[in-house]
Amino acid sequence: MPHPNDPKLRSFIDVDATSDFPIQNLPYGVFSSKDGLAPRVGVAIGNYVLDLWELEQDSRLDVGALGVFAGPTLNAFMALGPKVWSQTRARISELLRHDNPELRDNSELRSRALVPMANVKLYLPIAVAGYTDFYSSREHATNVGVMFRGKDNALQPNWLHMPIGYNGRASTVVVSGTKVRRPRGQLKPPTAEVPSFGACKRLDFELEMGFVVGQPSKMGEMLTESQAEEMIFGFVILNDWSARDIQQWEYVPLGPFQGKAFGTSISPWIVTREALEPFRVHGPAQDPAPLPYLKQAQANNYDLQLDVGLRTPAMNEAMRISRTNFKYMYWSSVQQLVHHASSGCAMNVGDVLGSGTISGPDKDARGSLLEISWNGTEPIELPGGAKRTFLEDGDSLVMRGWCQGDGYRVGFGEVEGTILPAE
Ligand code: CA
Repeated sequence: MPHPNDPKLRSFIDVDATSDFPIQNLPYGVFSSKDGLAPRVGVAIGNYVLDLWELEQDSRLDVGALGVFAGPTLNAFMALGPKVWSQTRARISELLRHDNPELRDNSELRSRALVPMANVKLYLPIAVAGYTDFYSSREHATNVGVMFRGKDNALQPNWLHMPIGYNGRASTVVVSGTKVRRPRGQLKPPTAEVPSFGACKRLDFELEMGFVVGQPSKMGEMLTESQAEEMIFGFVILNDWSARDIQQWEYVPLGPFQGKAFGTSISPWIVTREALEPFRVHGPAQDPAPLPYLKQAQANNYDLQLDVGLRTPAMNEAMRISRTNFKYMYWSSVQQLVHHASSGCAMNVGDVLGSGTISGPDKDARGSLLEISWNGTEPIELPGGAKRTFLEDGDSLVMRGWCQGDGYRVGFGEVEGTILPAE
């Protein structure tokens, strides 16, 4: 049987070369059809969602535990482990192949199991156990450091020795399309004598990738590079909404808190680690060499293109304001997970770990408005003459990501969010 990543595979379902969801991808999500079915697990293929619960009931798919696809999250499936993830993906690929009549010629099953994408509602695909956010782009950390501390102190002394992170809030991780309310908090502009409480005035996004932990680790145990890799189920695009004014006043001495706690948006389809395998690349050289527990033998970065669009209520379509690539990250996802568990911190099925804002070496590859507008001093000009330094009410932010194969792409769809006025 050909490997599910084989570039030559094709499905009996027509998939455009620019679609995010060819047979080489097969990302998992949770959906309901608009005719009232309860949310269940599906896989995206072209312009369709393949209903895995229907396939399981029809005895076409067997993961050794009945009902894991009937629920509103992927956690039960993820808990079955990497062997089952891989076998299941191979079986779904087989069922969708152009030369397999099993599903192709069974019109009754097809009508039950293939739902047009236009007719579905997508949900947060996992029960988020914990959310941790890192700060692993050297370009982003340097840009922010230069703005706040000057060129000579841009990187903190610890930055090149470990992936810096903080524990965020799982309770406000939401799926693409969820509107995000402008937060309120303590503000103290440099000119003010005392702080006040009010609506955030410097609302920002952060372009990140998130990965989903699909296997637990025990409290007290460290992870090796390969153990950590095996625990990663897949990836999503992540927007770590950020209130810069709240953040700036609160972050010393314990780091981000309310400035980051009000919302984090993720794309609805989880692209499996296995589907990204053909796009592995080495990250930037790490100098100084990481301590032994953080050393990596493999290429753990991915050549994954990302772009960000901004649409104001006056615009018909989004204007691209950034284009960058996940491959620029200094610390890899595997290193982040190894470091997270290194103190003995237990990891859980359903943990989401954010990469940190992904900025690239060029000016048009900056992953936040803080950097794009250089702390508000260089506004971006939009069609029609409007300007932006930070987000205004009604603005929508759209992020897209994909790996380009030869004649196909393994994509993530999009993560979109629109800003509602403060309460
Ligand atoms: Ca972040």
